[in-house]
Amino acid sequence: MSIVDRFLTIIITATITSAVWIVAGGSLMDNASSASQIGSTRPAEAAPSPSATMAVATDSATGEETGDDPVEVAAILDTESATAPSARSTRELMIPVMNIRPDDLSDTYTDARAGGDRLHEAIDIMAPRGTSVLAAAPGTVEKLFLSKAGGKTIYVRSENGTTIHYYAHLDQYADGLVEGQRVRRGQRLGTVGSSGNASDEAPHLHFAIMRTTPEAEWWEPANALNPYPLLTRAK
Ligand SMILES: [Zn+2]
Repeated sequence: MSIVDRFLTIIITATITSAVWIVAGGSLMDNASSASQIGSTRPAEAAPSPSATMAVATDSATGEETGDDPVEVAAILDTESATAPSARSTRELMIPVMNIRPDDLSDTYTDARAGGDRLHEAIDIMAPRGTSVLAAAPGTVEKLFLSKAGGKTIYVRSENGTTIHYYAHLDQYADGLVEGQRVRRGQRLGTVGSSGNASDEAPHLHFAIMRTTPEAEWWEPANALNPYPLLTRAK
């Protein structure tokens, strides 16, 4: 082999070797960057979707409005490490009036109010004056508020801060009930009445569920969701 041939062989070998390294290195970098993309996007994409899909599937069976999905999803997300049965029992709502059965309820969520200016966005649970009002879920009494429309009202916020239950038109508050007090599911909060703008002939509990953020105050705008499907599947 001549000097020239040997020299050519060295150059060709070096060129092929570096080409292989460039291609290999390039694809390694591609893999690395796509792997890091997967790592950064997966939690955001994946976290809400499986639970949201489950909640929708459950609700589509009943044909009910699916306004309750956020609560279901939030409950699942908030109790990551909880076992399924205990997570389920803590997020089930109780009908917040003593002796009222699911069949006694009617869905008044989309009824017009204020002459059609707004929707009711709550459920009215009819019951004799003086019937006990019970906490639909555990939480903290955030505000006892006397309002022109709602009369004697109670705002109870969930432990995770994202849900407020609003009880209105009460006749009386339970003895000793104070702001900041923690209440358990089923605890007596007061009695059914017609305070505020409710008719004296039709005492009832006006019960609303509002989705909010832990930072938002009790009086700030929040997203209402329909209590009816949640209460009619309550035990
Ligand atoms: Zn009402």
